[in-house]
Amino acid sequence: MSLSRSEVYIDGAWRRPLSAELIEVLNPATEQVLGTIPAATAADVEQAVSAATAAFAAWSTTTPAERVTHLRTLHRCLAARAEEIAQTITAEVGMPLKLSRRIQAGLPLAVLENYCALLAGYDFEERIGTSLVVKEAAGVAACITPWNYPLHQVIAKVAPALAAGCTVILKPSEVAPFSAFILAEAVHEAGLPPGVFNLVTGTIPGVGEPLVSHPGVELVSFTGSLAGGRRVTELAARTVKRVTLELGGKSAAIILDDADLATAIKGAVGACFINSGQTCTAHTRLLVPEQLYDRTAALAVEIAATYLPGDPTAEQTRLGPLVSAAQRERVLDYIRKGTAEGAELLLGGVEPPAGLERGYYVRPTVFGRVTPEMTIAREEIFGPVLALMSYRDEDEAVRIANGTIYGLAAGVWSGSDERATRVARRLRAGQVDINGAPFNLAAPFGGCKQSGYGRELGKYGLEEFLCLKSLQLRE
Ligand code: NAD
Repeated sequence: MSLSRSEVYIDGAWRRPLSAELIEVLNPATEQVLGTIPAATAADVEQAVSAATAAFAAWSTTTPAERVTHLRTLHRCLAARAEEIAQTITAEVGMPLKLSRRIQAGLPLAVLENYCALLAGYDFEERIGTSLVVKEAAGVAACITPWNYPLHQVIAKVAPALAAGCTVILKPSEVAPFSAFILAEAVHEAGLPPGVFNLVTGTIPGVGEPLVSHPGVELVSFTGSLAGGRRVTELAARTVKRVTLELGGKSAAIILDDADLATAIKGAVGACFINSGQTCTAHTRLLVPEQLYDRTAALAVEIAATYLPGDPTAEQTRLGPLVSAAQRERVLDYIRKGTAEGAELLLGGVEPPAGLERGYYVRPTVFGRVTPEMTIAREEIFGPVLALMSYRDEDEAVRIANGTIYGLAAGVWSGSDERATRVARRLRAGQVDINGAPFNLAAPFGGCKQSGYGRELGKYGLEEFLCLKSLQLRE
């Protein structure tokens, strides 16, 4: 199948970018070219910002009810293409299709639906003493997203931005861009006014940096790597833009001594290996009490070994390839470092999985006796690599869990939800799962420390795109 696109979406129309350059997108399971996308340039960014600026005055003054109507239509147009979205993202990212249907297609639709409901009941005004505080659209927003959950990360920005009354320029990852084109087509079909949503694709120097630096952009919502986030913040600072950063993580799952071990380890391994470990919130460090270490290690290896890498389009596959050759190299480097720094390789390793000569596959890998100073305990790997660490008491578990530069997510497992919640309160992380409780898309999502700042999802995600104005009234 060819998914190629040759145009970008600006001011309500598909346009050929001013440069004819194209970017190839690969299928990570086959290493074949899936299609190409336009490498737009600063001149296209200029047009997109002009269109978004021109559309802002009218869109930002629509009523919430009018925006709900638009967003509901958009939801309908997107939902009609859910299967195509799942297949497209499996082809470009490599997530097993069964999971893609539920997560890569299902989650963004649910988030969009949630914003329709939220917007319908959201109060854009608040009375504080003699002031009337009005919550207004913050301006033209640049939304910059990575490849690992491509449409979810896009919708987590675009839906609240549009709901708030902002106009948007989306720059998706060039590694997995095709679902963003499907979104732009859905926007067009839904009849959103021209300029309200614009899509430009291209490289970081070609499109990313011109967009973040553009004085007409008032707000940047960025999800990606720590290095990318730092650079974006520097560029945005020059024109004092508001910036929201959703960056990396090195999240810990803490198993307390009264936890049901089998359930906890199954949940923790799943939370590490989902999307082949290419998840910002992956629970990549498994912290266990020293007295349970041997049993935990044996169980973790047993469960991890069931994640057999394979063709992501096959129904039974649980572990697809990594997204690219570069990503695989990066992960294999970390596995080499783990061994070199003295961690025990309990499962997996750098050899390619048997029978998979093509595709960027990495074997599910478990390291034992990992200590906090090792590289694999400190840095984000973004692959199917679990680090087992032991602790002596609760205080040490909390210290280890909090002992990285990141603070995105964590998990706590205990026989008592109350005890797990008590430990969770001590963790520096944006979200902590208690005994494997599911993701709540109405609750705020984001990080602390170098995992970033600002929140996505639910009303807190909406408020990132609002600007407060106090109207001082006479008594
Ligand atoms: P990346 O930083 O390379 O790229 C992310 C996006 O930002 C891409 O669209 C890229 O083109 C753009 N970009 C990068 N540098 C830029 C710059 N200087 N100016 C403008 N645009 C720029 O990240 P990636 O490899 O695509 O994604 C993986 C990373 O994303 C991981 O570190 C992961 O943890 C993180 N991530 C975080 C979350 C979260 O919500 N916290 C979610 C998913 C992924």
